[in-house]
Amino acid sequence: SKKLAGKRALVTGGSRGIGAAIAKRLAEDGADVVITYAGNHEAAAATVKAIEGEGVKGLAVQADAGDAAAVTAAVNQAAQTLGGLDILVHNAGVFGGTPVDQGGYDDFRRVFAVNVDGVAAGTVAAVPHLADGGRVVIVGSVSGDVSMIPGMASYGASKSAVQGLARGWARDLASRGILVNVIQPGPIDTDMNPADGDMAKIMLPNIPLGRYGRAEEVAALASFLASDESSFITGTTIDIDGGATA
Ligand code: NDP
Repeated sequence: SKKLAGKRALVTGGSRGIGAAIAKRLAEDGADVVITYAGNHEAAAATVKAIEGEGVKGLAVQADAGDAAAVTAAVNQAAQTLGGLDILVHNAGVFGGTPVDQGGYDDFRRVFAVNVDGVAAGTVAAVPHLADGGRVVIVGSVSGDVSMIPGMASYGASKSAVQGLARGWARDLASRGILVNVIQPGPIDTDMNPADGDMAKIMLPNIPLGRYGRAEEVAALASFLASDESSFITGTTIDIDGGATA
């Protein structure tokens, strides 16, 4: 049988990019999958269609990850729809690129609201629904460890923050067998960071494998961490960056 058969998953920001790839991969591996999204109804519907195409349950819930009440409601709706939760993937995220000498405090607040507060609110809401042996996977970034170009302060700090949350939650939830880890992608070809965009010109020479990563490659790692096979991994970060931070 499929490795995630019978598992119940929630993926935030699952309408496009890395989140959509993760949602589809978990479904392909047999899990029922609820996604959240910010505003792109068409993309959300397309992901749900792909999930259902795998013969499992799919649902999209519009919920701004920067709104704690909306996140809590979405988590509760997902748990109700699926009859509980086994896998929570925090993927929704925004990039803010304002350098500190050009202001940037509004940018900082928004990046933290979505990338950090949303993760905290979602986990707090999900824990009562999470089955023992469950999984929490956070999509961080190599920017949590290194700052590759100017303008990364707010974004990088938000991705450093989720490392700390994961380490703490790993200890908090270990007695229930719930494992908490952070995936740290390097440059991945999505709408946020297109492989043919301006940022790519700066990034590409620093990637030993000589290319951007694909969302599906990140999804494969998420699927592994969501599965029983990752049973001795918790409270850590795993880079997936083509060697960019080597
Ligand atoms: P995209 O911008 O391509 O897609 C973002 C997805 O998240 C969309 O589904 C979007 O929904 C959703 N989303 C955005 N903001 C919110 C919000 N406030 N509330 C709910 N959902 C939201 O991003 P990526 O796929 O590239 O990035 C996904 C994650 O991966 C992020 O956490 C990002 O920081 C991280 N990451 C990405 C890297 C890259 O190079 N691409 C590298 C390292 C980390 P909608 O369609 O409705 O707008």
